[in-house]
Amino acid sequence: MPEMNYAKKLRSWSLRDAADAGQLLEVTCQFCRTTYRFFPHDLLKLTANVSLERLARRFRCERCDRSDYMGLTVRQIWGSEYGTLPVRRLVKVTTVKKPIWEDGVL
Ligand SMILES: [Zn+2]
Repeated sequence: MPEMNYAKKLRSWSLRDAADAGQLLEVTCQFCRTTYRFFPHDLLKLTANVSLERLARRFRCERCDRSDYMGLTVRQIWGSEYGTLPVRRLVKVTTVKKPIWEDGVL
């Protein structure tokens, strides 16, 4: 992917596009310099097929708990990286039961 106008590219490139192209998503917290890498098809199990620009705003850094410094880049996978590049994989999705109460009268 060419570097020219990266923000514009992310706007027109969706999660599904990245999954189909066999790319990885690299999310970096610019505050504490932590990088997380995801498979697009894992993220498609959690969200609709949004543009990568919209997706970038949804991440929160687990290390420093900030979301305002997260930057997303698309990464092409190179053969030599297999077996060495750290990647986050979705293990499972659990449903949390959240009670919602309403105070009424008998
Ligand atoms: Zn951080």
